[in-house]
Amino acid sequence: MIGDMQSWTPNVAGIIEHAKKVHPKTEIISRLVSGEIHRSNYEEVCIRSRKLASVLIKDGYKEGDVLATLALNTYRHLEMYYGISGMGAITHTLNFRLHPEQAVYIINHAEDKIIFVETPFIPILEAIQDQIPTVEKFIVLCEENELPETSLKNAISYEEYIMDGDENYSWPTLKDDAACGLCYTSGTTGNPKGVLYSHKSNIIHAQAALTAMTISPDDSILMVVPLFHVLAWGIPYFGPMLGLKLVMPGMQMEGEPLYELIEKEDITLAFGVPTIWMGLLAYCRENNKILSSVKNTIIGGSALSLATLQEFDEVHDVNVIHAWGMTEMSPMGTTNIPTPEMENMSKEEKYAIQLKQGRPIYGVELKVVDDAGNELPHDGESQGHLLVRGPWILQKYFKSDKDAVDSNGWFDTGDISVLDEDGYMTIKDRAKDVIKSGGEWISSIDLENAAFGHPEVAEACVVGIPHPKWDERPMLFIVTNSGEPIEKQSIIDFLSDKVAKWWLPDEIIFLKELPHGATGKLQKFELREEYNNHYMEK
Ligand code: AMP
Repeated sequence: MIGDMQSWTPNVAGIIEHAKKVHPKTEIISRLVSGEIHRSNYEEVCIRSRKLASVLIKDGYKEGDVLATLALNTYRHLEMYYGISGMGAITHTLNFRLHPEQAVYIINHAEDKIIFVETPFIPILEAIQDQIPTVEKFIVLCEENELPETSLKNAISYEEYIMDGDENYSWPTLKDDAACGLCYTSGTTGNPKGVLYSHKSNIIHAQAALTAMTISPDDSILMVVPLFHVLAWGIPYFGPMLGLKLVMPGMQMEGEPLYELIEKEDITLAFGVPTIWMGLLAYCRENNKILSSVKNTIIGGSALSLATLQEFDEVHDVNVIHAWGMTEMSPMGTTNIPTPEMENMSKEEKYAIQLKQGRPIYGVELKVVDDAGNELPHDGESQGHLLVRGPWILQKYFKSDKDAVDSNGWFDTGDISVLDEDGYMTIKDRAKDVIKSGGEWISSIDLENAAFGHPEVAEACVVGIPHPKWDERPMLFIVTNSGEPIEKQSIIDFLSDKVAKWWLPDEIIFLKELPHGATGKLQKFELREEYNNHYMEK
């Protein structure tokens, strides 16, 4: 027997319509490319999304077409999320930090028909437009009179394009499980792979995410996580669901402009990756500034370090919520929200829990298995491959004809983790980064976090390098605050009471900067390649 409730064919456009009805005047604030602050609200975003959708249809675009954005976090990008997907096409977000070869591969693989482009990124597309034949037109995200000279084919400004759109356009009823958005994985090895989200998966992901973070309707949100990367953790959907004020920093992600925006807009909740927060904290430290309005920050994308957690807590009185996920998971998998028990804990005990990646959001199942696929106990010690399953986790990659999950629906995240008896998950490493030394495993993340606590260390990266006796040994790369090398022994002394003796790096190398990929993650393979023979040659 089936239930008697109404059937539901979701369209994300329903979210922005809801926000227009219920929270019409809640602000959407964006820093534009010019640096100017632009103020919009849910009503305007909704009406302009309708206009965009109606123009796209008039222009011949239809359900299932893939239309790309090469854009910053601004109100226009939010409008495209709704205008494109709401009319049944697929919003494909491109990352402007991609290597041109990867961008060409991705655009051709997705068969993008339009690219909406922010003015600073026009040169990126001009250089490759001969290699992306599926793209019929480029829509430049600016006013009509701001459209620069460009060789881009059929270039038109966004404002001119949507000018005659229909403000009263009504959204179509889409097929069950209709595709909504497309993101490609960072792909450090091989070609990037596409993950095609559905309207349904995005909506239930957003609803579930709201239950797993400390969000209240009067929060003012700083959206540092980019709209081009994993749908900005679901904020563009759950923000309007709850009527949250959204503040988007555009291009200016350095400490000073971020700080100014936070203070000016009374930000209470900030979402971002650790590297961005390191810049913000350094700015505050050097200029004696305090984050006066921020209550919570959600940090994910890379591991949170004790030093960052401590500085947020002790200097700024900001509660840190560690979160973990990935492109293939829409992206939220686990969050670490405060529990009543934490109130009675010592700082050390509380920090030890907060550094874990958190507990699964309802809907996500986790398990850790050994190399043979046997499930490992939840004892906080047994580490193995982290597998996930759930309604917003991919079944297969875009255009692939085989499943990316096993016959029981489990997807291997490529992370090495432990689960404990309270349900917390801790990431030990990426499977490809874990260091195998003398038959034992060294967690590069734990070692990096320990080194990062050294007062002179601005950034740390640990890589396993082949070793004639031990298989692999850790090598530690450091960027210091001053940019200059310091005594290696002071690092070793600092690490000595924090990690096992055999974990201590055999070599420490000082660099001016570490290699970061298009989404801010460390590109360990570059260092591994460069130093591959280091211990072998000794
Ligand atoms: P992406 O698909 O680019 O978002 O990358 C996902 C990967 O980033 C995950 O599989 C993890 O290896 C890593 N990651 C994400 N969040 C965290 C976190 N909180 N701690 C450690 N690693 C993380």
